[in-house]
Amino acid sequence: MPGRWMEIIAAQPRLGWVEQPSPVEALPEMAASLGLESLWIKRDDTLGAHVGLPGGTKIRKLDVLLAAPPWRDAPGWASVGAIGSGQLVALSAAARLLGRTLRAHLFWEPPLPGLLENLAYVASGPGDLRYTDTRVGLALRHPRALLSKRLGTLAVVPPGASALLGQVGVVRGALELAAQIEAGACPRPAHLFVPLGSGGTLVGLLAGLGLAGLTDVTVHGVATVERLYSLEITLGGHVREVLRFLDAPETTLPTLRLHRDQLGPAYGVATPASLAACERFAAAGIGLEPIYSGKAMAGLMAAAQGLRGPVMFWLTPRAPTPLPAAEDWRARLPRRLQRRLAASTQVRSPARRRVMLGVAGLAALTTAWRFTGYPEPPAGLEHLPRWAAGALAAAVEVVVTPTLDAAGVSDILRRVDAFLRTQPFEIRVQVLGAISLVEQGAGLLTTRVSRFSRLPPPARLEILDALVAQGGLAAEAGRAVRDLCMLGHYQRPESWAALGYGGPWVPEAPRPDPYGVWRSSAPPPGFEAES
Ligand SMILES: *Cc1c(COP(=O)(O)O)cnc(C)c1O
Repeated sequence: MPGRWMEIIAAQPRLGWVEQPSPVEALPEMAASLGLESLWIKRDDTLGAHVGLPGGTKIRKLDVLLAAPPWRDAPGWASVGAIGSGQLVALSAAARLLGRTLRAHLFWEPPLPGLLENLAYVASGPGDLRYTDTRVGLALRHPRALLSKRLGTLAVVPPGASALLGQVGVVRGALELAAQIEAGACPRPAHLFVPLGSGGTLVGLLAGLGLAGLTDVTVHGVATVERLYSLEITLGGHVREVLRFLDAPETTLPTLRLHRDQLGPAYGVATPASLAACERFAAAGIGLEPIYSGKAMAGLMAAAQGLRGPVMFWLTPRAPTPLPAAEDWRARLPRRLQRRLAASTQVRSPARRRVMLGVAGLAALTTAWRFTGYPEPPAGLEHLPRWAAGALAAAVEVVVTPTLDAAGVSDILRRVDAFLRTQPFEIRVQVLGAISLVEQGAGLLTTRVSRFSRLPPPARLEILDALVAQGGLAAEAGRAVRDLCMLGHYQRPESWAALGYGGPWVPEAPRPDPYGVWRSSAPPPGFEAES
């Protein structure tokens, strides 16, 4: 039943970035492998491509928000985000397109290569950067950057662009889906999955689906932030606020189910389940990133068994193409941030280092294109994902012996995988973290931007040496990867003769686990504290 809300939405000015519906796409093979009736993807990664914007659901928010005062009339915008924030990337792209400036108030987040790519893009854009170590410090020092609508001549864009008008942009997205269902482009979903960050996306979709009468959809919000930032009661309040603004306060809403089991250690930190989801969907041509959409997809995969009817996934990230950066982007950063970045590869405490290695390494994989383009791994690997197998194979080729044939490399990978099977979860996370730091982290330390595995062998050796010479986390990652290669190599009977070892006396005898110590509280080999 059309209501006044339609007119109110139509009356909101827009920048014209979302004039075409983002496509809905079926993934029949993925649906079959997950045991779902059907699986559909709402491809928001395509948004804004016609005007050169990077895509993602935030384009929907900015399309409406930036077209309204005070943002419309300001010569520039101010906003707050972590140093690798995707919201600041979207705003920076908008500033370039509309000839505005962006003052980015940054707070600290571990400087991982994928996030550095975002930082480099924002630093290369028009405007300036301010830096404070913590979010709290930022709130104290620049309260107006967080709380007010204006900062001098600049208009403030709230965190996540989740202001009321941003949410109205997402309401339009839900209406767009309703029209696609009506037109037969896809079935009416029984379940819709979406990540929950600042909440604007979920709030807009709930309100919009309610307005469209799609109230028999169960909306699944997969939390990617701590509970404090995503309380049901706050979400409900925002939905009501949107509906009041649209003069439709009595609207019936779809059922909401929140999933809080995919967050992992913290916001901004990848989990193995999210990385596995990223990799699986990258192979199907769908670009997830592990901080939001990877966790949401992991939530879908974990719930798949119990889902009846068509399932839809709202693809929120930008398109997975690398962002351009100016040569001198580091020089454009505030001095304090430069110093902190330089110091950040030197973590002193060994216990903290081990945690950081897993966290830092995995979070290095923050953009989906980092998962693509790897060769088929040897069959039967359980714990080495395709990207890790590819990176480790590239290390084996230079660490073990250059004369090793492909079958030898595969054999070593299988032995490393078998070793990982015996290890507890935290160790597996650390190992994957180390591999990804070597694979993606080279650009953090050297001028190289390529992945480790794409470099010619002499350059790979150079990178491993440079990492070890760097000290801190980088050195631990480099050493851990070298140790893994050798661990796999020395388990091969072919290597024993060179050591003067005749092999085990009893062929089937269980071999002592050389890394058994990893299960004790002592630091594992390659993770020793420097005195
Ligand atoms: C910001 C963002 C989200 C979260 O949306 P909210 O509206 O903040 O909840 C989800 N996915 C991606 C890729 C994002 O960048």
